[in-house]
Amino acid sequence: MSRGPLPLGDAPRATAEVDVVVVGMGCAGAAAAYEAARSGASVAVLDGAGGPGGASAVSGGELYLGGGTEVQRACGYDDDPDAMFAYLSAALGPHPDEAKLRLYCDESVEHFRWFQALGVDFKPSLYDGVSWLPPTDDGLMWLGENAWPFTEIAKPAPRGHRPATAGHGGWLMMERLTAAVEGSGATVSANTRADALLVDGDGRVAGVVARRFGEDVGFRARRGVVLATGGFADDAAMVADHVPALVGHRAVSAGRDDGTGIRLGLSAGGTTRRLGSAQVALSVVPALACRGMLVDGLGQRFVNEDVYPGRFSQAAVLHRPGPWFTLVDERGWEEVPPAERWGVQPRAVAATLAELEAALGLPAGALEDTVARYNRDAARGVDLLHHKDPRWLRPLEPPYAVIDATAGFDPDGRKADGTGVSGFTLGGLRTGVDGEVIDADGCPVPGLYAAGRATSGIHGEGYVSGTSLGDGTFIGRRAGLAVARG
Ligand SMILES: Cc1cc2nc3c(=O)[nH]c(=O)nc-3n(C[C@H](O)[C@H](O)[C@H](O)COP(=O)(O)OP(=O)(O)OC[C@H]3O[C@@H](n4cnc5c(N)ncnc54)[C@H](O)[C@@H]3O)c2cc1C
Repeated sequence: MSRGPLPLGDAPRATAEVDVVVVGMGCAGAAAAYEAARSGASVAVLDGAGGPGGASAVSGGELYLGGGTEVQRACGYDDDPDAMFAYLSAALGPHPDEAKLRLYCDESVEHFRWFQALGVDFKPSLYDGVSWLPPTDDGLMWLGENAWPFTEIAKPAPRGHRPATAGHGGWLMMERLTAAVEGSGATVSANTRADALLVDGDGRVAGVVARRFGEDVGFRARRGVVLATGGFADDAAMVADHVPALVGHRAVSAGRDDGTGIRLGLSAGGTTRRLGSAQVALSVVPALACRGMLVDGLGQRFVNEDVYPGRFSQAAVLHRPGPWFTLVDERGWEEVPPAERWGVQPRAVAATLAELEAALGLPAGALEDTVARYNRDAARGVDLLHHKDPRWLRPLEPPYAVIDATAGFDPDGRKADGTGVSGFTLGGLRTGVDGEVIDADGCPVPGLYAAGRATSGIHGEGYVSGTSLGDGTFIGRRAGLAVARG
């Protein structure tokens, strides 16, 4: 819970005084704190958890960067900010925040170099497969840029940049950011959970009251406060109000996305944008889906399976009746190494599609029709319905296997959990390009800034991996510089 804003005069007896208070130390808070401290401001960072990191530290570490980074060039790709903007405008849309997105693309090479300067290395090699998270330490991956319709919208270039480690890389990124914050002179207080803003007589946000081991502690901020507390995927009431598609599904978070930052911002007069937007992940192995097809609960295909996996997940969960299945033939199944199948197992295997329809409870003839159409097009090397790249097209042959996405991933060989659907929220406080929180009249709330998933960043209704860590750090940096100016 959080409280309404308190007058500065009601600050607790134990109140420290600094120039800038940053609430939350995931990627956005760390970027803000580092830049504010580097600008000469005294900075206090609070985190309600036992240490910094947040969702950022458990994340995949994929960073959406481009426009011509050294890693892109080393891999043979000649990218530019306009192509990046065209792709993201379409993939994050409709209704991305164009002002933020334009800056994000124009300054992406500089942002890439900022990470490098902090010791986040990216290996100059491309993972040329399709995956949620490559098993290799390649520094670059495709995130849907080479799939229809985007191939007709923008010159394709891979822009998923990955810290130099195999699998999840968020810990490595946060290790480097945390070292940078600590080296900048900012103080970091763990187990310190902000639950009210302090407001001075002029209505300016002037600090924070937090709970630490059952006591109130105050932090007076002479220049301003940055909210960087993450999203609200863990707050069941907010999810039910704003993102009903995620109700009952697992939150993609570190367990602390309870929306406090958003509530604190609202309490001081801030407003919100796009609270209904969400990243959605369906437990489908992209490498299997590309080699076969995704079908809905009516046995119908609905998307080109080679898009960024979050896009086929949104297409399924938000727009098609479940359950959702991957249909693959024996050759397709065998082509994907067992270690890259994320523990999924076929729910049914059969020599005929009619047997599969019966086993899965699909309308009789539905799969037969879908596969007949697919095979006819695949034999000609063109997916007329959904435009999957010819690289993945070939007629499917019996025997067939069907994997039920709602069974979830089971990478450790233990019981699969959840509903096979998970997600995190993309909407939050309305902010400007410097992270300034915007009120109902379109004016900045004096002294209040925000970044990361506590805000609506560059996104509209779509999502591409890497844009959350990407916009969190990018706008976080700008918020840190702006708040330090006072
Ligand atoms: C498994 C997983 C994989 C992911 N992979 C990727 C990826 O590859 N690329 C990508 O771009 N995104 C990815 N994401 C999403 C991304 O990690 C998050 O959206 C992003 O880290 C949010 O950053 P943030 O700084 O806004 O919040 P966080 O990193 O969550 O940090 C918020 C911090 O605020 C603290 N906090 C919260 N409330 C308070 C309070 N009241 N007072 C004080 N402190 C508070 C929390 O303890 C936390 O440390 C992934 C997420 C998960 C969980």
